[in-house]
Amino acid sequence: MSRYVETNAKIKPCPFCGINRQYITADKPAGVTYYGVQAHVAQVHCHACGATVEGMTSDDESAVRLAILKWVQRAQYEERPKPIRTQQGRARA
Ligand SMILES: [Zn+2]
Repeated sequence: MSRYVETNAKIKPCPFCGINRQYITADKPAGVTYYGVQAHVAQVHCHACGATVEGMTSDDESAVRLAILKWVQRAQYEERPKPIRTQQGRARA
């Protein structure tokens, strides 16, 4: 069963809907192993649109850290400078 995780970590707004309301859960799914040990799965969820990013490691704490890291990386990917498109649809350097 999932439990809610409290964190002081800075979490960027949702990369999909832009809303800044996330919650984190952690879980130990039965029968799921990670390099031969019981897997711990943490997820960052968006309250608004339901987007979820997951981290899976061998303990709760690092699974939470990984899930947050992946959420931030996804948000940063959406914030990256976009190439200018020409009328032919090709990127201009
Ligand atoms: Zn969202």
